Amino acid sequence: MNSEDTVRGAAVTTTPCRACRTPKPVRMYLCADCWDRLPRPARRALTRRDGQALARLRALHTQLDAGTPLPEITADLTDPEARQ
Ligand SMILES: [Zn+2]
Repeated sequence: MNSEDTVRGAAVTTTPCRACRTPKPVRMYLCADCWDRLPRPARRALTRRDGQALARLRALHTQLDAGTPLPEITADLTDPEARQ
């Protein structure tokens, strides 16, 4: 069991970064460079795991696809608490 986990962990499974297309680990939303450029509130919202996590990820993708600059991403669009 443990060896299987190790093999899986070592496997280089990457997808292109949505923003710059640099290969990144599948588990990460963006590559490290792009992640660092996101506003802190956006990063905090994206790392939160609740019922809106997927919606926030989609909001992130929508903005990236629209060409929104990384520092202007607002991933908490769908977070009612962030609208106060
Ligand atoms: Zn990137």
